[in-house]
Parts: sequence; structure tokens; C-alpha cells
Amino acid sequence: MILDGKKTADMITMRIAKEVADIEDKITLSIFLVGQDPASIVYVNKKLKACDDAGILVDSHFLNDNITQKELIKLVEDCNKNPDIHGILVQMPLPSHIDADVILNTIDPNKDVDGLTIINQGKLLAGEETIVPATPKGVISILKKNYIDIPGKNVVVVGRSRLVGKPLALLFLQNNATVTIAHSKTTNLKEVTKRADILAVAVGIPNFITADMVKKDAVVIDIGINKIEGKLIGDVKYAEVSEVASYITPVPKGIGPMTIASLLENVLICYQIQKKLLDK
Ligand code: NDP
Repeated sequence: MILDGKKTADMITMRIAKEVADIEDKITLSIFLVGQDPASIVYVNKKLKACDDAGILVDSHFLNDNITQKELIKLVEDCNKNPDIHGILVQMPLPSHIDADVILNTIDPNKDVDGLTIINQGKLLAGEETIVPATPKGVISILKKNYIDIPGKNVVVVGRSRLVGKPLALLFLQNNATVTIAHSKTTNLKEVTKRADILAVAVGIPNFITADMVKKDAVVIDIGINKIEGKLIGDVKYAEVSEVASYITPVPKGIGPMTIASLLENVLICYQIQKKLLDK
């Protein structure tokens, strides 16, 4: 069965739009895009449209790639100080002369809609309530919204990036799954993936997971987005794996839209955190 990310994400966006409409303040997200990376432009445009659909204002900073690290830090700090800005997103990747970690950690953790500051990542590791990166959050959300049980399940996450694999593994652990993380140095990957009741793949290699690597009736979550001859395809060989899996997310219309919907949820959470701080 197909897990329809677009449909689930639309439901979340509608709920957020209703909540935002009931709030008097103009909830505002600052988005920074440095340079002209084509994929980043596509992602940012999707985020702009989603914010518009949800009634969230965007304060956009489209910057030339010759901006210095110091100048970018200053712009982010200005947003930190501005009480009318509730969330800050810096689109990755940044040009090589800018240290992404320095920029991410300049963001006020209470405005960190991507959950990528060291403070929010540390809180996630500690199991504290925090702002969770949108893609892993979208994965857990699509499973829960489709009534797929996580506790006690053998979950295999393939990929260990800071943005996707690691936080996703932690979220599965928080949800009481038995979690294995596989990566490029894993030996006998097929043996590992075959044990998964839920297999989540974030590798960035088109058609990497084939049917012989998947247990019968497993739930397969394809996070990969790869562009081949102008077409988007995932990390999972969809046609053959869908014959083996009980549930599978497609690409496109799977985790992509869930990521955007989860970002909107995070903007609202950031607004609520700041509102509480102001009311203190
Ligand atoms: P990274 O390149 O940062 O990480 C890829 C991971 O895959 C690494 O941990 C790497 O292992 C692992 N890997 C690479 N080759 C193999 C292999 N042969 N066997 C097992 N593991 C391997 O990518 P991201 O996590 O940022 O993204 C992964 C994919 O998800 C990409 O296609 C990206 O476009 C997509 N993505 C989709 C989003 C969405 O909204 N749907 C959002 C973000 C990303 P090692 O650590 O050992 O190098």
C-alpha cells in the first residue's frame, strides 16, 4: 500500500493554516538562501509556497554567494534580535568559504525551525522536548498518521547524516523501536536491511535498495531525492520493492511534502515558544 505523503501533508498544512488564522500576530519566518544552487532554489520555492498556503509570512534574504561569513552572521543575529521574526531557516548547502556549523549555531535555538543548532540536537539526544529536524519528524508523522505501530519494531535506518539519519534513529528510539543504523561502512548490508520491520533509507543513491534487501511485508520509507534525466527518483527501487513491502512511500509525493509540512509545524512551535518567553 502506498503511504501518500502529499495527502497526509495537506491535512497537516490545513490544520496549521487554521491555527495560524486564529493567532493575531503575523507569524514570520526568515529564510536565507545564499547563491544560486538549483536544487536549493527549488526547495526554497516550495517552502515559500507552503508558508503562503498556511498564512505564515516570509522575510526572505536571497543573497549573493560572495557574502562573507561575518556579514551573514550579522544578518542572522539581526533576525535573532527582532521580536517580529519567529523562525529562522538557512538553506543548506552554503558556499565553501562559509562554515555551515558556525552559521547554524548563530541561530537562536528558540527560532531554529530546522532543529540543527547544537543545542536542539543535544536536547534530542538527551530525550528532552525540542525542535526536531523536519525530515525525520515527517517520517515519524507519516507512520503515526497512518496508524503504523513503531514500539518494539526492528527499525533499520540506512544513512547517518546529521540532517536525516542520526536524528531519525533517535526519534525511532524515543518511540521505543529497536534501532539499527547502517552506513557506507556497514558489512553485509542486505543481511541488516532484511531484518527490518521498518526500513528507512536516506543514502542519496538512486534505486539503491532492491527487493532482495527487504523483508516480506516490511514498511519502507524512501527519503532519497535524486534527479535522473529530469525525473525525481528515490533511493528505493520502487516498482519491485512495492511488491514485497506492506507499505511504501513514493518519490515524489512521499517524504518530500511531509518535510515541508513538518517545517510549518516547527514554525508554529517556535512562535509558541517565543510567545511563552515574552509572557514570562
Ligand atoms: P548525506 O550524503 O549527508 O548522507 C548519506 C548517508 O548515506 C551517509 O551516512 C552515508 O554513509 C550513507 N551511505 C552512502 N553510501 C552508502 C552505501 N553504499 N551503503 C550504506 N550507506 C551509505 O545525505 P543526506 O542524509 O543529507 O540525504 C540523503 C538523501 O535524502 C538524499 O537523496 C537527499 O536528497 C535526501 N533528502 C531528502 C529530503 C526530503 O525532504 N525528502 C530532505 C533531506 C535529504 P557514511 O556516513 O558512512 O558516509
